Amino acid sequence: MRIGVPRALSFYRFHPAWAAFFDRLGVELVVSPPTNRATLEAGLRYAVAETCLPMKLFYGHVRALVGQVDQLLVPSIQRLAPGSTNCARQIGLPDLLRATMPDLPPLIAPDIDLAQEARALLSLVLEAGAPFSRNPLTLRDAVTAAWDAYRAARQAMQEGRLTPADFDRPGKAPPWPPYGIPVAVVGHPYNLYDPFINHQLLVRLARLGVNPLTPERLGPQPGADYWAFEHELVGAARLALERGVRGVIAVVAFGCGPDAVLVDEVRQLCQEAGVPMMALVLDEHSGEAGLVTRLEAFVDMLRWRKADG
Ligand code: SF4
Repeated sequence: MRIGVPRALSFYRFHPAWAAFFDRLGVELVVSPPTNRATLEAGLRYAVAETCLPMKLFYGHVRALVGQVDQLLVPSIQRLAPGSTNCARQIGLPDLLRATMPDLPPLIAPDIDLAQEARALLSLVLEAGAPFSRNPLTLRDAVTAAWDAYRAARQAMQEGRLTPADFDRPGKAPPWPPYGIPVAVVGHPYNLYDPFINHQLLVRLARLGVNPLTPERLGPQPGADYWAFEHELVGAARLALERGVRGVIAVVAFGCGPDAVLVDEVRQLCQEAGVPMMALVLDEHSGEAGLVTRLEAFVDMLRWRKADG
């Protein structure tokens, strides 16, 4: 039995948990290959133009797995925290897929609501685990291993030992210089850690002498948000500004309604703090040369400000 995992969207949050869970059940996981031009082109065939780039890439990763695996893991992530809601596209992901691709293998599509931990665990057991084991002790061990792995990964990311880009390649050290210019780089993990979608943003910043502080490195942000992922933009920017970063880069995807609102909140926070802010909007047409020029100009400006100060 081989279960396919699209390297997109919730992969960048939950893969350590899924890997531990299915490992305990003796099931092989197959992660789609890293994103490339063919992934995008495959995804574009199934998405309307207005869909956000991460969704288009998600479709492309699913196409890379069709025919290669027996089942596909496509959880419906309802909420990441109490009092918040997730993006409708991510909640409806299994239904969207079923409606657009007639040749899919069977989906494993548990509803995951982290605001109700007990219910999330039950859903995990019943919908994802029960088809592979009827032994309650085995299922309990698998769930425990999943939560332990999830928490351990978050800790490792906060300590700078792991990034979501390397969830299926643990042991690879993140590339940034710890003593570089501290700049917050805020956004959703599938935008920050897929080097195809963002033209290797984090590696380029590291080469320019920047220490990019991402939401995963900044750690948990206090406060209740409306959007489940709001802390990845607004909360992370607020925390980074409190810690004295010299600049903020907000990375958002074209076609994302919530991000279009949240990026204005980040801009407002930066204005109030007197810290330079740059918004990068990712879409399938954004060119590498333009991005590099903007990054170099932004980092040069941070250096001049420091020299003047
Ligand atoms: S939050 Fe935005 S970028 Fe992410 S899937 Fe939803 S619409 Fe797309």
